[in-house]
Amino acid sequence: MIINYFNQEELDTNDIKEKLDLIATSSTENAKYLSKMLIKTLSYLSQKEELNAQHLKEGFPTSISDVDAVVYFSNAPEEALKNAKKCITIGNFKTNLQDAKNLLINVKHTRVLKKNLKNSRCVMIGFQPEDMDFMNYYYTRLKVYFYNVCKELTRMPYEVIKQDIEKACTTLLLEKNCFQLPFPKDKTKIKLKRFLKAYQTIIESVKEFKIGSEYLFYKSIKKDEYYTNMLNEISLIVEIFTLPDHIEQVSRIYDISCERMLKEAHALGYCDFENNRCIASRYTNGFPNSLENGCCQNTYKDRGKNCRYLNKDHSCQICAISCRMFTCGYLQKRGIDHALFQYPLIDIAFGKLKRTEIIYDFFTPKEVMMKKLK
Ligand code: SF4
Ligand code: SF4
Repeated sequence: MIINYFNQEELDTNDIKEKLDLIATSSTENAKYLSKMLIKTLSYLSQKEELNAQHLKEGFPTSISDVDAVVYFSNAPEEALKNAKKCITIGNFKTNLQDAKNLLINVKHTRVLKKNLKNSRCVMIGFQPEDMDFMNYYYTRLKVYFYNVCKELTRMPYEVIKQDIEKACTTLLLEKNCFQLPFPKDKTKIKLKRFLKAYQTIIESVKEFKIGSEYLFYKSIKKDEYYTNMLNEISLIVEIFTLPDHIEQVSRIYDISCERMLKEAHALGYCDFENNRCIASRYTNGFPNSLENGCCQNTYKDRGKNCRYLNKDHSCQICAISCRMFTCGYLQKRGIDHALFQYPLIDIAFGKLKRTEIIYDFFTPKEVMMKKLK
């Protein structure tokens, strides 16, 4: 397995494997956790995603002169679009500039954009993937943490680990710096959220906006994991925007998000149940204190018993995003920490207040949640 450390360097996997083999010889708490979770997480994170951006066309369309305007998201005007009747470039520009045919508009100025599209019947929308900011979504807390743990593991001498395996593992796992991105974010890029807000303004302003790869394009780039992930997400979001009403859109976002969270929880198995007791209840004396079924028992809605939605086979009858999202302090300190704003669909569809509501509304079936989110 190749560990591509934030596209900056490749980590020595032989060295990591040798150290993990040593760590696996110990049966202490953090050594067991590290040897199990690191392997599982790396294999989960290294799964290759196929490009499935069916609503986007790669490359510049040849028919740009047939439409009233081309709106292009980029931090620089694009020569290939100069034959368009009107070309609006949207980016992080300090001021809006315009001549008869070419306009530069700041991505935050959706009103200016709306005004300039007032008489357009048909437009094409394009974007430069390299100018879009997808960092928050791609480098999730989980990814950042476990990649940093790998890096720290390569730095730690074999002999130091051998001397005291549990101490070395505790140091690696509880190292606060492991939660930090090892490079600063590029603030010059166009936030995906802003792009989609402007996109919505365009489709609402134009009389005949047509969805489909004919009308939505992106500049060709080399497709690595980062861009594949970004293009797939944009295509999916665009598809959801075409659903006729808001409730349907929210329902689809809810289902997709639940499915993804469940898939991740199954792939990683981070609660690590043994004889019905989760890892936190086996190793800590505080909440949820050595009881069975982890945090699906003794909830504030069902005191002293299992949650009403817990099945006999320990699965859940409902899909409550808040429950899917939740991880206790024990897991959070060890890198299993979710944030709703890191899921592009949720981040884009719901404002901060709604996200807070989702996070704290535990044990709530989808039908109830939907009423609050509409
Ligand atoms: S999240 Fe809940 S079930 Fe999972 S380890 Fe923590 S307390 Fe246990
Ligand atoms: S609703 Fe939440 S607490 Fe209840 S069974 Fe499902 S996941 Fe567990």
